[in-house]
Amino acid sequence: MPIRNKLKSEPCAIVRKLVESGYEAYIVGGAVRDLLLGCEPKVYDIATSATPEEIRAVFGRRNSRIIGRRFRLTHVFFKKDIYEVSTFRRCPNAEERRGREDDQDGMIWRDNEFGTLEEDAARRDFTVNAMYYDLTGDRGVIDFSSGQKDLKRKVVRAVGDPVQRFTEDPVRMLRAVKLCGQFGFHLSREVKKALTTMRERITLASSSRLFEELLKILCSSKAEPILSQLQAYGLLEYIWPVMSQSWDESEGVLARQLLSIRDREVAAGNLSNSRGLALATPSLPFLMSALNPQDMTAFWKRDANTDATATKAIRLIFDRYALPKFFATRIRNICYLVPRLLARPVSPRALNHIEYRHARALVAMLVEIFSWSDDILAALPEISVAVPPLPVQSGDVTGDSEAAVVPARTYKRRRRRPRPPRKPSVASPES
Ligand code: ATP
Ligand code: MG
Repeated sequence: MPIRNKLKSEPCAIVRKLVESGYEAYIVGGAVRDLLLGCEPKVYDIATSATPEEIRAVFGRRNSRIIGRRFRLTHVFFKKDIYEVSTFRRCPNAEERRGREDDQDGMIWRDNEFGTLEEDAARRDFTVNAMYYDLTGDRGVIDFSSGQKDLKRKVVRAVGDPVQRFTEDPVRMLRAVKLCGQFGFHLSREVKKALTTMRERITLASSSRLFEELLKILCSSKAEPILSQLQAYGLLEYIWPVMSQSWDESEGVLARQLLSIRDREVAAGNLSNSRGLALATPSLPFLMSALNPQDMTAFWKRDANTDATATKAIRLIFDRYALPKFFATRIRNICYLVPRLLARPVSPRALNHIEYRHARALVAMLVEIFSWSDDILAALPEISVAVPPLPVQSGDVTGDSEAAVVPARTYKRRRRRPRPPRKPSVASPES
């Protein structure tokens, strides 16, 4: 089937509107790659000659917002979904690289120099990610750098010199290996060589970007194979040290088994790509071992120390990152429910918990891994868990749009108490 017939209508409408307004616009990157591979893209990226301000003028201020500092782009809201629309860029020259004052590392800290389509293609990371689809014209797939050939040969080749491209942005190393886990690609000789010598530089990337990538990996339906590739290429020890160090320990092995099952179920549409579940799944074994080191599969009995130990354990699992409290709470709530769903009789409060469906999913995974009796699941009513996959947009790591699809109860945002008025620190002249 030609690509045109496989495209979702909403991103096409965005492209058309930009073109009708006098700009160039194309579907780009992962979406074109996925379509050529015959997969349905989860997220569509759009590239255009319009600047962020011009994009906002086209779609209106209420339907769009500009995000990002390192990489400014525009989110366009369209029928409940968010689309990333980025302006064509070029590689900034040395003068334009507004690096840190003490930065000698050749990294690009701001990537906001606008350019032409050709220049935009040249600053994309890999040939398989640097293709554009011309929806409104007759150019079809626009491919400046052998992307289609590399896609057929399943090879991850850098656009340009990989040493320079990884120096500019070390996150590209992670992205290269991710493609291997995601699609069974292999790295080109040059990319492999550069990665082997440069992998430590991944630590120079900001932790928020790394956490964003890790979260995207965990939410995907290929989390386990991607983590395996990251471990094999020696990147996981920098990105997720606890997981890397426990890889062959009981916690790591169980975490990988759980992730494999979650991947399978997400791919089959039986589980949503919930961020809460994606984070809780590999966390559960670490929590089990922290709360009952003698016999992790016997779970734990809550006592006065449980909360403090669990909080510390969750912090340690993601020790490289300042895990947002919202996620820490969700991980804890989902994991805490697991032994409650295994107890008999199951308390009605546990069955009505907002995280019930995610905790039940974890119980189902444990039943499969340990060949526990099916009676366990029979006592736990199945509720519809299949919700449409949510696009995980970059730059949005703290919120959880998914809370909005929980039908009955949702997390409430705590209201801040108003602060008492400040006393003047210096006596006023009138006093
Ligand atoms: P996914 O399936 O994970 O969304 P993707 O390739 O679409 O994969 P995005 O993060 O959505 O990844 O990025 C969209 C596109 O932007 C990429 O395909 C690539 O062309 C470009 N891109 C993203 N990150 C970088 C980077 N660090 N350096 C250069 N180009 C990048
Ligand atoms: Mg994408």
